[in-house]
Formats: sequence, structure tokens, C-alpha cells
Amino acid sequence: MIPATFEYYRPKDMAGVLSILSKHGDDARVMAGGHSLIPMMKLRMADVPHLIDLQDVGGMSGIEIGADSIRIGAMTTQSDIIDHVGLADAAPILREAALQIADPQVRYMGTVGGNVANGDPGNDMPGLMQCLDATFTVVGLEGERDIAARDFYEAAYMTAREDEEVLTAVTIPLPTGGYAYEKQKRKIGDYATAAAAVQIVKEGGSCVSASVAMTNLSDIPVYSEATGAALVGTSVDDAALKAAMAAMLGDIDPTEDNRGPVAFKNHVAGVILRRAIERAWSRA
Ligand SMILES: Cc1cc2nc3c(=O)[nH]c(=O)nc-3n(C[C@H](O)[C@H](O)[C@H](O)COP(=O)(O)OP(=O)(O)OC[C@H]3O[C@@H](n4cnc5c(N)ncnc54)[C@H](O)[C@@H]3O)c2cc1C
Repeated sequence: MIPATFEYYRPKDMAGVLSILSKHGDDARVMAGGHSLIPMMKLRMADVPHLIDLQDVGGMSGIEIGADSIRIGAMTTQSDIIDHVGLADAAPILREAALQIADPQVRYMGTVGGNVANGDPGNDMPGLMQCLDATFTVVGLEGERDIAARDFYEAAYMTAREDEEVLTAVTIPLPTGGYAYEKQKRKIGDYATAAAAVQIVKEGGSCVSASVAMTNLSDIPVYSEATGAALVGTSVDDAALKAAMAAMLGDIDPTEDNRGPVAFKNHVAGVILRRAIERAWSRA
């Protein structure tokens, strides 16, 4: 439980971060809250000879709510998300999801950027951000670029971010309609056995749009277009719910582990999705 030796850096600005990253390539890694990376280093599952702490880099935290979108700095903590009154009004699903991550101690340190950049299928925010159609901004020596959350995840711990790039912000179009983040876990503080993020818009008793993403049911988060499509044009009755659950089961790919066998995970995913859709619909 003791990590291998490493050099520790604490640059004051992004130029300093990028220069260390470019010098050491994939031997260097940035650290945000450290609540995924440090455990991995202690377990010797991550070898990081050069560790770059982002805590002193200015301009990376904060929540800005605009007319059409919300910008969240990468170093904003999960706890900041929970405490931000304006955000709870503008995008309440973020607070509902953040409250289900780990425990208060972890949430004081764990950041939004770290959670989405990590690439762990168990992290809650990647699926949430796919549901909300978020965009991730990354910066490297070549400049800035935006990557859609729905295109960001390639495999477990593999993302579209290059090793020499740093994620600086997450931008979300202002969500409309009803929402729900539903998560089944073995105990408080645990990662999901299955989780579902749902945003749904109702007009005249009918569903006009639905966005659905599932967590920890594949090696990447699963944005399921087919699940949303199964709800659109319906009154979200039992037949529509069953069609949505069938569509979702066609898109996920769970594997057996200490949270249960595949059949159990498929069952839990269906129950969780149904609950999330029903709650989102009741709020729409
Ligand atoms: C006991 C426990 C329970 C937990 N339960 C949950 C849970 O239920 N759900 C959940 O979602 N998470 C859970 N977590 C993880 C927690 O939310 C982490 O804090 C989070 O996943 C990573 O955020 P971080 O800021 O700590 O990132 P770090 O640990 O600092 O970094 C994680 C990875 O992301 C990279 N990274 C970080 N920031 C950036 C950036 N700005 N740009 C580029 N790369 C970056 C790092 O290099 C590293 O590879 C748990 C953690 C613990 C210790």
C-alpha cells in the first residue's frame, strides 16, 4: 500500500503543467483530487514517476451558468456541485448524481474533471455527462479543442484525451424537462452495480425527447440512443417502458465481477432504468 517513488510538481499555471507533460510524456500524470489516482498508485496499478498536482493552477474551478449553457471548471469538486444553489435550479440532475458518489470526504476532494477524465467505467459523471450531451475542453501545447462526452470514451481508462493534454472544463447545454439519476450500489460509498441518467421532455402528455445513459454496465459509459428513441412519441406507459428496457439491454455489455453475474446486472440495470424513467417522467 506504499506507492513507488515519484517526483512531485506543483506548477502555478497551465504553461508549467504542459511543459512538464511534454518533457516526460506518459511518465507524467496530472493529479486533481487524487481520490482515484493515489489509490491506484498505492496499489501499484498506476506507475507515475512524475506527478503534477493541479491544485495551484488558477482558473480551473468554478461554475458559470449562462443563458444556454453551464460551464464547470475541471477542478470544481463534487462537493461544490452539491452546494451550488444556482446549479441545483439550472441542472438538478448534477446534484442528484453527485450526492450518490462515494461519501462526503471523497466528494470534498474529488473533482468533476478527475471523475470524467479518469476513464473508470465505475465513475458516475461520464454517463451523466453523456446524458446531458456535455462537451469536454482539453488544452495542450497545440492549443485547445472540444470533445463531445459521447465520443470521449474508447475503452476502460482509454479516452480521446492525449497524454499531453489537460481537461480544463465541462460545458453542458442547459437541460430542460424532467430528470433522474438512479444508482444501485452494495453499500454507501460504493461504485454502482448499475446506474441510469435520464433527462426527458414532455409536451401535451407525450414524450418529445429523452436522453439516457447507463453506468458500470460496459467498459465505457453507455449513451443509449435507442432507449431514448423507444420513449419518444409515447406517453411513457408500460409498453414504452418495456421497449426502453429492451433497447437498453441491447446496448450494455456487463461482465461478471464481485458485484454479481451478468444475469443479475442485466436485471438490476432494467429495474434502475425503469425507476429513473418513471421519476424523470413524473418531474417532466
Ligand atoms: C472510497 C471511494 C469511493 C468512491 N466512490 C465513487 C463513486 O461511487 N462514484 C464515482 O464516480 N467515483 C467514486 N470515487 C472516485 C472519486 O469520485 C474520485 O475523486 C474521482 O473519480 C476522480 O477525481 P479526482 O479529482 O480525485 O481525480 P484524480 O484521482 O486526481 O485523477 C484521476 C485520473 O484523472 C486524471 N485527471 C484528473 N484531472 C485531470 C484533468 N483536469 N485533466 C486530465 N486528466 C486529469 C488523472 O491523471 C488520473 O488519471 C470513489 C473514490 C473513493 C476513494
